[in-house]
Amino acid sequence: MSDCIFCKIANHEIPSTTVYEDDDVIAFRDLDPQAPTHVLVIPKKHYANICDGVPAQTLAAMTHAIDEVVKAEGIDKTGYRVISNAGADAGQTVMHFHMHVLGGKKLGMGLL
Ligand code: C5P
Repeated sequence: MSDCIFCKIANHEIPSTTVYEDDDVIAFRDLDPQAPTHVLVIPKKHYANICDGVPAQTLAAMTHAIDEVVKAEGIDKTGYRVISNAGADAGQTVMHFHMHVLGGKKLGMGLL
């Protein structure tokens, strides 16, 4: 989608702090981090949310990316949280499917 900010990040049209990338997925640091590690994992192709017909292969690629990110951040053993907001009541503000990966501290229940 031409007016989608995450599509622009995926296409490298606008910069991001990329921590992982492959053919299907890019992961970058959230601009407003809610924890010491706060990375967004997104499919390069546009889907509105997790239930917008995302292929199983893409979901598997995102899971792989999360695994790579938490190992690189050193939080694979200490623990982390993965959240995907879908729709207005969940507080989704960017309508391009993304998974928040949060960790690096003891997480309370209020994050995102
Ligand atoms: O789940 P939700 O849609 O609310 O999350 C969007 C996230 O994208 C926010 O945490 C926001 O800080 C982040 N963001 C970003 N870079 C942008 C626009 C939004 O990291 N250019």
